[in-house]
Amino acid sequence: MSEAPADLLATPVQFLKGVGPQRVEAFHRLGQVTARDLLFHFPRDYHDLIDLHSLDDLEEGKLLRLRGTVLDVDCRRTRGRRSLVAALVRSGAGTLRALWFNQPFLREKVQVGQQVLLAGKPRFKEGSWQLVQPTVQWLDVEPEESTAKLLPVYPLTEGLKQFHVRRAVRAALELCVELLDEAFPPEYLAEHKLWPLRAAVPAIHFPADRAMLEHARRRFIYQELFMLQLALAIKHQQRRVLAAAPPLEATARIDARIRRLFPFELTAGQEQAIREVRADMARPHPMNRLLQGDVGSGKTAVAIDAVLLAVAHGYQAAIMAPTEILARQHAQTLGLLLSSSQVRWGCLVSGISSREREKMLADLRTGELDVVIGTQAILQHDVEFAKLALVVIDEQHKFGVRQRETLKRGSSGAHYLVMTATPIPRSIAMTMFGDLDVTTIRDAPPGRQPVHTYLAAAEQRERWWEFFRKHLRSGSQAYVIAPVVGSDDNEPPALDAPALASAEQMFEHLSHGPLEAFRLGLVHGRMSAAEKDAAMEAFRSGKTRVLVATTVVEVGVDVPNATLLTIEDGDRFGLAQLHQLRGRISRGNRPGYCCVFAEARTDDARERLDAFIRTTDGFELAEIDFRLRGPGDLLGTQQHGLPPLRIADLRRDLDILNEARADARQMVMVDPGLGQPAHQRLRKMMLTRYGRVLELGDVG
Ligand code: ADP
Ligand code: MG
Repeated sequence: MSEAPADLLATPVQFLKGVGPQRVEAFHRLGQVTARDLLFHFPRDYHDLIDLHSLDDLEEGKLLRLRGTVLDVDCRRTRGRRSLVAALVRSGAGTLRALWFNQPFLREKVQVGQQVLLAGKPRFKEGSWQLVQPTVQWLDVEPEESTAKLLPVYPLTEGLKQFHVRRAVRAALELCVELLDEAFPPEYLAEHKLWPLRAAVPAIHFPADRAMLEHARRRFIYQELFMLQLALAIKHQQRRVLAAAPPLEATARIDARIRRLFPFELTAGQEQAIREVRADMARPHPMNRLLQGDVGSGKTAVAIDAVLLAVAHGYQAAIMAPTEILARQHAQTLGLLLSSSQVRWGCLVSGISSREREKMLADLRTGELDVVIGTQAILQHDVEFAKLALVVIDEQHKFGVRQRETLKRGSSGAHYLVMTATPIPRSIAMTMFGDLDVTTIRDAPPGRQPVHTYLAAAEQRERWWEFFRKHLRSGSQAYVIAPVVGSDDNEPPALDAPALASAEQMFEHLSHGPLEAFRLGLVHGRMSAAEKDAAMEAFRSGKTRVLVATTVVEVGVDVPNATLLTIEDGDRFGLAQLHQLRGRISRGNRPGYCCVFAEARTDDARERLDAFIRTTDGFELAEIDFRLRGPGDLLGTQQHGLPPLRIADLRRDLDILNEARADARQMVMVDPGLGQPAHQRLRKMMLTRYGRVLELGDVG
């Protein structure tokens, strides 16, 4: 039968040579059910047996790696009552001794006959070479593997050893690797220097050397990133070409009317961003643009320009902010700009009465209201618009593909502008936001002063408050940020850890202590909308000089007169969060001063804080944060909605990502629906993985 060969890929693992019924369960636990599964059960690491030393070329004190077999083990106590595990290891024609102090558990693991890979600095003592506290890796090898240079290390489960998996993978390779179907056309592989699947699969399991491994890995990393980019390119194209939205051209008259409203000259970056947004909005297809720029770069002005453009054409616009505080602030900004214009706007937040709310909803339905400002809750309620043409989403930290889809449903046929809270790493922009066009503002409004950032210990508090008071007396305003709201949130994270500073305690302490001469305000997430409002307003107007807050003021809050910032327990905040907080005091034309009180309890916290005081460049900090935390953490793995990458690492594989992205876009340009016969397998694989989550429909 013609079907028969392909079925070999479906051979159950227990029928593979050397697996046997007693280990089926274990393989199943690893998700390995068929021969095909095993072929794609890639090693998580490799034992590097390349460039190993032999006993002949040892040098005292020089790091070496060597492979050997344990001949004898001995475990005793030294005179100083330390435990000592000593092994005699044969390597090549000679022997050496490996010594481990205070690691009694090694006694169980170091077995006679065991093959090991040792790394350490040798010394010559008592007539033989010794390695003291070498690192050791256990090599589960079979005799036929004894010449392998790179030995695969697989994820294991109980009841399986490395050589069990290696044996099963080898059997699967022998049985059916030649039956695997290639996704890419042969010319494509040749042109892009990609190894064919049938060569790459064996090579990733049992590479002869590093070069071979790199070729094999490149093929799989490329494929994974290419599939994603293909899906994103198709999504991008569907929106940009297939969907419809009202074309809103910025005529000279409209342009003049809008520009009159801004109280400042736009920066070159803002001008460029506005040009790109306007070009998008002039098309009869939806804009899908991501606007990124550092804190304080003036993204709001770009958004307002787009809003006014929509309104000038008789359409409605919605602005969504992540918090109500920010929504109200936008309303205020807009209110000031529009005080002498006819534009009708409303702020849909929780503090308003239900009568006001009903009225607003009715006005949106009939088109009486031009602009609505609110949080994302706008979408969850049944808000109906008469003629919605633009949705602006401001200050997004975490905003996934899925949420964007929900949004689209609520506003089909609208243009769409999303603004990030801080710069995002390039590889994130290209993946998580890869279906959007990206505009980047690189400059800042003129006259911006640097923020001086200090990391301080508790002893320096008195000096800092002294400095603080001096600046407050000369007219500055200040924020004091604490990680939690009240003392009942103060459950220490670990038994021996000190309690965290709370906003309420800080407020009490400062108003009766170091800052008693000044009026202080307090704002946190547990206050009612009206209370928050009042506190923000008092601070904005200068009535209160110091605002003690939690991270409710993290994003977007714009009080240019504030130049001082104290962050308590700074190690509790992420790097992007710290940068956002600092962004609150770099908005006017006076230098800012930020003092972080922190005890870096982990390496991670130390690196974060070091980076934070070293640079104020949000683009640089974003890349550092990304290196430290990875993509999942940065965007909230749950939230971005795309299935996780299995082999590609966005921190490492940026070059391949660039290449895959360019190639995918090229392919979609040439063959928009992926209808060409040569592209059928790619199309199918891409749809299987991304069709649903990106709502690609049938494509083409
Ligand atoms: P972000 O990009 O962080 O959202 P904003 O849009 O809130 O920044 O702008 C930060 C501050 O800079 C605001 O007070 C705003 O009024 C001011 N601003 C924006 N653009 C300019 C400009 N071209 N010249 C002077 N000030 C500006
Ligand atoms: Mg902003």
